[in-house]
Amino acid sequence: MRANDLDPTFISHAPGYWSGEAAENWNDHRWQLRNRVDSLSELEQRLNLSDVERAGVLLAGTKLAMAITPHFFNLIDQDDPDCPIRRQVIPRIEEGWNAPEEMADPCGEDSHMPVPGLVHRYPDRVLFLVTDRCASYCRYCTRSRVVSGVGEQHLETQWEPAFKYLEKHKEIRDVLLSGGDPLLFSDDRLDKILTRLRSIPHIQFVRIGSRIPIFLPQRITPELCAMLKKHHPLFISIHTNHPRELTTEVRDALGRLADAGIPLGNQSVMLRGINDNVEVQKALIHKLLMCRVKPYYLYQCDLINGSSHLRTAVAEGVSIIEGLRGHTTGYAIPQFVIDGPGGGGKIPINPNYVVESGSGKITLRNFEGEIFDYPDPTLIPQRDFLKLQELALDLAR
Ligand SMILES: *Cc1c(COP(=O)(O)O)cnc(C)c1O
Ligand code: SF4
Repeated sequence: MRANDLDPTFISHAPGYWSGEAAENWNDHRWQLRNRVDSLSELEQRLNLSDVERAGVLLAGTKLAMAITPHFFNLIDQDDPDCPIRRQVIPRIEEGWNAPEEMADPCGEDSHMPVPGLVHRYPDRVLFLVTDRCASYCRYCTRSRVVSGVGEQHLETQWEPAFKYLEKHKEIRDVLLSGGDPLLFSDDRLDKILTRLRSIPHIQFVRIGSRIPIFLPQRITPELCAMLKKHHPLFISIHTNHPRELTTEVRDALGRLADAGIPLGNQSVMLRGINDNVEVQKALIHKLLMCRVKPYYLYQCDLINGSSHLRTAVAEGVSIIEGLRGHTTGYAIPQFVIDGPGGGGKIPINPNYVVESGSGKITLRNFEGEIFDYPDPTLIPQRDFLKLQELALDLAR
């Protein structure tokens, strides 16, 4: 761990490995995308790879592609083999081993798709998978079966049938655009999708799930923000796992979104050796609050094929929440969840603060381990209420 990872300051890592590149290029999101590190030779030009990584990169070509934006690549600490950034985006051979409990579709999304691309798992909201591409690829991606386009399965979003389904199902009031990363679309294309969604009267709430503010903050242009602003109420959920990811560029990009009135939340995944301790999580959530982002969910890593080297024990997530609750700002604390394998949806997991309940009281433990009894009020029966009401009316007469 770098000492400054726990320091609540924002630093820029540019130009790093790209010293000599014109600022005009560096700040252009198209240049960043064109110059992604996506081959073994480019990777080896910049980093000394271990055998485990080199073999992982070769394997990635048939599973989940490797691609890393120059912006994000610069966060990698060349001298640290356990660098928390490196482990998120550089493949390792362990990805080739599927543990018996692992699955291609751990959240059971394919079996909840009434229309290809549209996951209707909850009563009032849908997940709309609009693209299979991202700015960079996370090695533990829960949707790696379709994301990046190199695997066997492909995402084939059926636009018109999906919009028709949304129009017909009046119970859907919340649409979450995800993928892949919707913010890779051009402003025009996104504008058209959002306009179409906004033309459906029963859709009250739209949000976009995106890691672009972290991987490619240059994409968060004033023009994009001005376009998004027309489609309020619109929320954005970002995805960041480690405090080093919150650089000055990322802070400024998030600031532009927040200034456009877009409420921001963050989703993190518990990852072994990356953010599996309370100090790192605390530094992350404190920096998120400084960026006007509410930590929303902390996920137990899904049982995605080839992820056992990155997964943590459930108890580690619980102990992190315990180490946060009461010890820091309530706003900073995410909800720890497990996505029920096979399509159970998000299930909250909380530390147990209830020591005992029943017999007219509940015994609770606070964050310092002290015990408190709260007398559970016995409910006043309805007929006693009616008697009291009569009495009050008599008195008033
Ligand atoms: C996560 C998810 C949602 C959104 O859930 P929230 O708890 O409202 O954030 C909706 N649909 C699916 C299939 C999801 O996985
Ligand atoms: S940004 Fe999201 S969808 Fe894309 S690879 Fe990472 S986790 Fe998967």
